[in-house]
Amino acid sequence: MAVIGFIGLGHMGGPMSRNLVNAGHTVRGFDLSPEVVGRAADQGVTTVESAAAAVTGADAVITMLPGGKQLLDCYDEFLASVGRGTLLIDSSTVDVADSRRAHELAAGAGLDAIDAPVSGGTAGAEAGTLTFMVGGSERAFQTAQPFLEPMARKVIHCGGDGNGQVTKMCNNLMLAAAMLGTAEAFVLGEKLGLPHQALYDVTSVSTGQSWSLTTNCPVPGMVETSRANHDYEPGFAASLMLKDLNLAVSAAEQSGTDTEVGRLAARIYDRFNSEGGGGYDFSAVIESIRRHSES
Ligand code: NAD
Repeated sequence: MAVIGFIGLGHMGGPMSRNLVNAGHTVRGFDLSPEVVGRAADQGVTTVESAAAAVTGADAVITMLPGGKQLLDCYDEFLASVGRGTLLIDSSTVDVADSRRAHELAAGAGLDAIDAPVSGGTAGAEAGTLTFMVGGSERAFQTAQPFLEPMARKVIHCGGDGNGQVTKMCNNLMLAAAMLGTAEAFVLGEKLGLPHQALYDVTSVSTGQSWSLTTNCPVPGMVETSRANHDYEPGFAASLMLKDLNLAVSAAEQSGTDTEVGRLAARIYDRFNSEGGGGYDFSAVIESIRRHSES
């Protein structure tokens, strides 16, 4: 069994590190928040006082941080303490340019690295059923398998450095577009006197079908797994959807891609966040659409 340094023990990193402990690995965890560290210690993580202490002597180091700035700051802080042969795995969702910069820093220190952002949310992190989308060399991808396996249902190699982040961004652009279209359709149906159930029964077996409809329907009572049945408690928070859409919009600008739907989706989620919706599941955006519809 391996020694794994784990940095960032929050909503995702907490349950992910617990699944590694349950698989028999020794996990040395570090986080800036004492509350989060306490919770991880209760779940069998060996908590340490610094990122450098977490990575020293580790076979792999996993980072699960809020964004690219924190990732690059952490790499600056701990890279000198990482031993030769250690694999760096970044599962945070970050800007593609920041991810590629992190790969360069790792390569400069003579270390293999992958970007391995995830899909599946906190429920997937708890259950060990995340999808990992991996960017990096074939060798690093193969080395990562035993470390990712206890947290994953699927691990997919998407190509070279940063391609995991590109995949994640593209997935969430599709997800936001599908959710917004679904939410708008339910509100339009409501205003024209169409029962939710009738719309659901038809669209769930028709071409309008999507995960946003049949797994996380924005209207309560249609499907058991929907966060709408739990007062829109996340799930996947609207603030994180806005973060991911902003990453997509900025990557689209840098690459000269025409992503008008992505820009519009980012504006709608920005509006919802400024209305106080950021802490709710991203499906709760339907309430903002209702508010902005004429009564
Ligand atoms: P979170 O805020 O709960 O956890 C991040 C943790 O990192 C916090 O506990 C924070 O204290 C810690 N941290 C910040 N800077 C640090 C530093 N320098 N050193 C050590 N610890 C530091 O966030 P989360 O929901 O766990 O998300 C983590 C990442 O996963 C994000 O990039 C997010 O976009 C991505 N993600 C989240 C979800 C989700 O549903 N929550 C789903 C997929 C991907």
